Amino acid sequence: TGHIKFDLADEPATVAMGNKIAQVVRQGAVLFLHGDLGAGKTTLTRGIVQSLGHSGKVKSPTYTLVEPYELEDVSIYHFDLYRLGSPEELEYMGIRDYFANHAICVVEWPEKGEGFIPSPDIDITMQYAGEGRQAILQAKSSRGEALLKQLQD
Ligand code: ADP
Ligand code: MG
Repeated sequence: TGHIKFDLADEPATVAMGNKIAQVVRQGAVLFLHGDLGAGKTTLTRGIVQSLGHSGKVKSPTYTLVEPYELEDVSIYHFDLYRLGSPEELEYMGIRDYFANHAICVVEWPEKGEGFIPSPDIDITMQYAGEGRQAILQAKSSRGEALLKQLQD
């Protein structure tokens, strides 16, 4: 399966990549965001969410696990599973209902919910690169393959 690498020199570059991703995932997608604290996962999510019409703040829902954005054309669910105590918490919150076909689900720290959340269309790994960051996008489904192709065009 294919992958794409993005060099992100500064924060605006991360936001711009989020804007770009937003334009191809309007029909729905599951995006997993991997990477250390501070790698830029929430910044990228902000780029996606604001690009699709949210004008307020975007912060990691570390304590609430999910932040919903019901926007004009799409529903976006931003998960941060960093503080997930046990996978059963996901069952209690009705995790599967969020992953409807046309929703955009962005999941920080997906490894904490492994086996309890649906698999992604795209795995995004953010890492430190000097003063900036690097993002590697990997397709994990046929929908993901199609999305990556669109991003490359
Ligand atoms: P995470 O959600 O992965 O913990 P955040 O997005 O909350 O990370 O924080 C990332 C930090 O790094 C923010 O302070 C942001 O301004 C900064 N940042 C984001 N992208 C870049 C980049 N491409 N280059 C340098 N700094 C960045
Ligand atoms: Mg975060």
